[in-house]
Amino acid sequence: MLLKQRMDVLKYQRLCKKVLREEGYALKLTNLTAHELSDLLQNKEISSEELTQEYLGRISAVEDKIQAYLTVTKDLALERAREIDKKRQQGEKLGPLAGIPMALKDNMCTEGVKTTCASKILYNFVPPYNATVAEKLYGKGAVLLGKCNMDEFAMGSSTENSGFHPTKNPHDFKAVPGGSSGGSAAAVAAEEAVYALGSDTGGSIRQPAAFCGVVGLKPTYGSVSRYGLVAFASSLDQIGPFTKDMTDCALVLNAITGHDEKDSTSAPVEAPDFTSFLTNDVKGLKIGIPKEFVGEGTDPEVAQYHKQAVEKLEELGAICEEVSLPHMKYALSAYYIIATAEASSNLARYDGVRYGLRVEAEDVVDMFNKTRSQGFGEEVKRRIMLGTYALSSGYYDAYYLKALKARTLIKQDFDKIFEKYDCLLTPTAPTTAFDFGEKSDPLAMYLTDVCTIPVNLAGIPALSMPFGCIKGRPVGLQLIGKVFDEGTLLRVGYTLEQNTDLTRPQPDLKGVMQG
Ligand code: GLN
Repeated sequence: MLLKQRMDVLKYQRLCKKVLREEGYALKLTNLTAHELSDLLQNKEISSEELTQEYLGRISAVEDKIQAYLTVTKDLALERAREIDKKRQQGEKLGPLAGIPMALKDNMCTEGVKTTCASKILYNFVPPYNATVAEKLYGKGAVLLGKCNMDEFAMGSSTENSGFHPTKNPHDFKAVPGGSSGGSAAAVAAEEAVYALGSDTGGSIRQPAAFCGVVGLKPTYGSVSRYGLVAFASSLDQIGPFTKDMTDCALVLNAITGHDEKDSTSAPVEAPDFTSFLTNDVKGLKIGIPKEFVGEGTDPEVAQYHKQAVEKLEELGAICEEVSLPHMKYALSAYYIIATAEASSNLARYDGVRYGLRVEAEDVVDMFNKTRSQGFGEEVKRRIMLGTYALSSGYYDAYYLKALKARTLIKQDFDKIFEKYDCLLTPTAPTTAFDFGEKSDPLAMYLTDVCTIPVNLAGIPALSMPFGCIKGRPVGLQLIGKVFDEGTLLRVGYTLEQNTDLTRPQPDLKGVMQG
């Protein structure tokens, strides 16, 4: 390049920076996605240590207000970042997630790092092993920043059920971040992690992703190992990513998907390269619009955004048609029987003997009772009681067995639709994030998952992506797909990202940073 040209470029760069500063934009590393940061790391323009420091600084600046984390692993993160930098210096070939700081929901076991499930009963539990997802991410060079807050044992839709503290929605501190993976969603939205993992039993990735304005994906049941995930309802639980955009979602999915012999429900399926679906093209794709997901209870402005997305996809060449899934009306009831039944069995292991809290007492039975009564929160106790009741003799056929039959009918509804359609488009939740305390009635809280729960019952994949805001609170769109066809969801999501400017709502945390 000629000297004059170089001077012009330099002048232009300075001008850009000045304009950005005047407009109040600061160029921040924490605003970048994993794929953007990966380029900077690979070109050695920044080091992982520098990036990790930047994130730890961000956490100190905003965490007082947001409270997305239960544990921050500062020293471990820096140590890990330096290791990755060293490998890079030595010329080792590293993947796109190497050196990128991330966070895990606190129900995924991390060797040597506390894993509490946001429950007092596990307040001091330090696992001696890693969950498969943690192991896989570490293997790709990921830097763990810490463990995220959640509803206790992943039971809830607002993170208000955490046994320790609530998490705030970065877009509006009066609003909940959603749940149960509210900490993971808020951490990504508030730029306290580049990406995070959550778990989804009835919507716990997608609903908080919607409320916090980030991308959240629940993979097909069996495609991501549950080994080392603290079990809530084993036939429904799945781990998945929270990211800033679809490209990052594909990258994280690539890293965590795959068969694991340590999980007997893990599917022996070869996963594709999910980035190959990011094609910015939906021509000819058949998208079903299920009428049961928009109606009574849906905020009219949410319905409006959903409609706008349908129109946009049609304009881009997709064929969108109204479809019906007649058994959806049974999903919520079936879920709250099946999930509580499985939870009542899974949570029997917390008794003061094996791990976590032990309340000393006169005899062993008294010790069980006192430990469980003091260690579990209200919602967890409610679910254990409901589940035990539904499984008890005399009620098993009337409740549990009937719920399983309803589950089969729901699965068959989806199977039938997917003979003709490539994917479905619905709102993720009927409303945007609600206020703290607004859903203190448990039934009102349960209703917020009406759009996400059917997907878990059917074992199919679905993602939530941001699509606009109502009074500063993000709206989520849900894309539902065929088993093992996460690729189509990423394809549609990516196309919407490339062709609208509604998919990256940014919270304004400037006030928090100064204060
Ligand atoms: N909110 C739902 C429940 O409370 C779903 C929870 C989840 O997906 N972990 O059960």
